[in-house]
Amino acid sequence: MTQNTTPPLTLTLGHLYPDQLNLYGDRGNILVLRRRCQQRGIKLRVVGLGIGDALAPDEYDMLFIGGGQDKEEVPVAQDLYNIKGIGLWAAIEDDMPVLAVCGGYQLLAQYYRPASGPDMRGLGVFDAWTIHKGARAPRCIGDVAISWNGSTLVGFENHGGRTYLGTARPLGKVLKGHGNNSEDTTEGAIYRNTYGTYMHGSLLPKNPHFADHLIELALRRKYDIWATPDTGTTGERTNGTTSTDGDTLALLTSLDDTLEWEAHTSLLEKLGLHNQAVATWQAHNAVKVS
Ligand code: GLN
Repeated sequence: MTQNTTPPLTLTLGHLYPDQLNLYGDRGNILVLRRRCQQRGIKLRVVGLGIGDALAPDEYDMLFIGGGQDKEEVPVAQDLYNIKGIGLWAAIEDDMPVLAVCGGYQLLAQYYRPASGPDMRGLGVFDAWTIHKGARAPRCIGDVAISWNGSTLVGFENHGGRTYLGTARPLGKVLKGHGNNSEDTTEGAIYRNTYGTYMHGSLLPKNPHFADHLIELALRRKYDIWATPDTGTTGERTNGTTSTDGDTLALLTSLDDTLEWEAHTSLLEKLGLHNQAVATWQAHNAVKVS
């Protein structure tokens, strides 16, 4: 019997400000990424980067930054700008997948004007800005659902800041909930492979397709696996099978996500989005593990 000597695929995730920005279970996103990698034999190493830690882009394949209260965002904003900014920009411009949730999302935009105190300068990755309407203004709180990539994303939001997009592309369109600002039905923002969103919950447990999207982006970038429909592909799926049929290569083997899709669609139902729930269930559960 031949022993499989191919080294396992590995990815390194940098978790920015794990102690300052970790609201509503944001850490759950890391647990999901790790588990979904593990189920495919991919090793995901997680490195925490706190205040004062430099960010050397070559050491990471993906980055995550969570959300927090205004008072926690102040020192993070300074550290992002003064310590991690150059490394983070280099990673982002080199198409590293980055997920930024709520407060982390706000600080990757131009600036955040909190309810009280001076503006927090952001990194300007997203051409967008955030204004808190004041301590008396109602917060944007509750379950939220958006359209994304022909499917849906669901989560929970709680933010006082309202984000307005300049030229930044939205992550999706609000189906139910507040999204960026409760006014223009946009939610989140995208720049290259950097995704900003207000969706906590945490986000990824109920959105396995988005988790896999991030993992796939990281694998493609690290192992230089690029597939184009017209030139046909010769590539390797993580479990060793090969595809030469010219379609876009799905890198990751599919997992049994019944529980995840039940949680996702029951939140859509709870929000009164019955048709989306049926469509999403049908779309994703046709892809049962073969
Ligand atoms: N403190 C920010 C706001 O209220 C972000 C909140 C969060 O990360 N949940 O808008």
